Amino acid sequence: MTKCIFCDIVKGAAPASVAHHDKTATAFMDIQPINPGHVLIIPNTHAACLSELEGEVGEHLFRIAMRIAVALKRTGIRCEGVNLFLADGKAASQEIFHVHLHVIPRFREDGFGLRFGPNYGFRPSRDELDNIAIKIKEIIHSQNVNPKNETSPCGNDLPLRFIVKSIY
Ligand SMILES: [Zn+2]
Repeated sequence: MTKCIFCDIVKGAAPASVAHHDKTATAFMDIQPINPGHVLIIPNTHAACLSELEGEVGEHLFRIAMRIAVALKRTGIRCEGVNLFLADGKAASQEIFHVHLHVIPRFREDGFGLRFGPNYGFRPSRDELDNIAIKIKEIIHSQNVNPKNETSPCGNDLPLRFIVKSIY
């Protein structure tokens, strides 16, 4: 495995302002915060992306994120709302390939936001929505859906075209 800055933080080999640590996960302050109080939560065991992460560990990350969201509001930091954000794969803007869940404090007019693509605003027909929902439902209920079994970790080897197509 190539050198991983987040693994180094877990080991204590790289500096970090740690807000939480247990046997499964570590939470620390983002060094380039979107807003003050921006926290990253990572699994202690290296997983490049969701396809390498145990489901129970993913659940744990979310549980810690919920607790940190509450704690942030009690710190006195400006926090009128919270975004939880996880980028999985290059096409989703993942930059550090060790799973990390962002907890981002938000307040009105903080200037942060998601930028929508040119097709945003288009409303698909109910048939189209139903079709996709049915396909997802069939896959979830009839196949062994375990992200760990996916053959293409992080989707790094896939052209974006394929990723978009595979949703439909
Ligand atoms: Zn790592």
